Amino acid sequence: MAASRMDLDGRPIKPITICMIGAGGFIGSHLCEKLMSETPHKVLALDVYNDKIKHLLEPDSLPWAGRIQFHRLNIKHDSRLEGLIKMADLTINLAAICTPADYNTRPLDTIYSNFIDALPVVKYCSENNKRLIHFSTCEVYGKTIQSFLPKDSPLRQDPAYYVLKEDVSPCIFGSIEKQRWSYACAKQLIERLIYAEGAENGLEFTIVRPFNWIGPRMDFIPGIDGPSEGVPRVLACFSNENPGRANGHIFNVGNPNNEVTVRQLAEMMTKVYTKVSGESALETPTIDVSSKEFYGEGYDDSDKRIPDMTIINKQLGILLLPCLLIFSLSLISNVGASDLKTYAEAIKKSMAKPTSS
Ligand code: NAD
Repeated sequence: MAASRMDLDGRPIKPITICMIGAGGFIGSHLCEKLMSETPHKVLALDVYNDKIKHLLEPDSLPWAGRIQFHRLNIKHDSRLEGLIKMADLTINLAAICTPADYNTRPLDTIYSNFIDALPVVKYCSENNKRLIHFSTCEVYGKTIQSFLPKDSPLRQDPAYYVLKEDVSPCIFGSIEKQRWSYACAKQLIERLIYAEGAENGLEFTIVRPFNWIGPRMDFIPGIDGPSEGVPRVLACFSNENPGRANGHIFNVGNPNNEVTVRQLAEMMTKVYTKVSGESALETPTIDVSSKEFYGEGYDDSDKRIPDMTIINKQLGILLLPCLLIFSLSLISNVGASDLKTYAEAIKKSMAKPTSS
């Protein structure tokens, strides 16, 4: 039960208050669910939307009623932010524009959201001595060294040139007109700022770099929720379970065995769709579309995303890999089934709307 949870060093975990910014999004909603059902912690959930966590907020008879409070606010301009950070022991910042299609088409919004808007969060945590867990991205690695090697170089097979290590791999971005890198660059700069706050002002922080987490409630259709499914246990490890082991660290969080090409992913998804919908398979399930055609001018492909998991395994132990594997193996069919329901509901709703003519 929640009250008897121990950290990895065998000490009982004390209940804390967490200020979660971006709690209404994909990762935030799963994290809130997990915190409510498996820990005694309180959550101040901040977001502009709450559709994905509504089921946790109402009715008042829920077992965790009183432990989660929603505050509808935009961190760009809301004077309540500092007070809420002060009320909490820990702040988790998930708020961001993080849809690849926006990086080259809305680069200003992307940079403002991922860097400028995060500045006050870092400042308030540092000034008020509050711990910060900041969600960054695997995109900060940019391109791998491997992608610059000659096509026939045997070194291309050497993992040293493509496996991404938090404390070793460089961050290599494309040219400035490749605006796709605006997201990665903004995330990198906020990481550097947090790191510097730690080094110069003693901010306690952990930076998480997710490697393409997917699951139910990813916002494919904004504003319409799907049913809730599996949640990775890994997330709870960053909250209060092991602050000492996580402090000052940047963690890759991904599954190194999950490398698939976009074509393979599309083929997997069409197979799952055929299975869950009962419809017959398409004769030509995939077609090739260039990234420029799909995302527009300014897009630039990244090559490989294979995380090295040494640091996270060393600091937070063996708990993590099984959790990630469970999440990743089950998720394709879970997402397929969940999205099918989500899309079906959306279509039904739009067909039920009266037409204006
Ligand atoms: P998401 O878009 O589902 O959630 C982000 C939430 O932040 C949304 O609910 C949004 O309304 C909220 N938000 C954005 N700007 C806000 C503002 N100004 N004020 C208040 N709320 C605001 O994204 P997600 O997939 O849950 O990702 C969370 C974090 O993890 C992001 O920082 C993202 O860059 C990072 N990340 C996620 C993945 C992944 O695989 N999902 C991969 C790499 C990085």
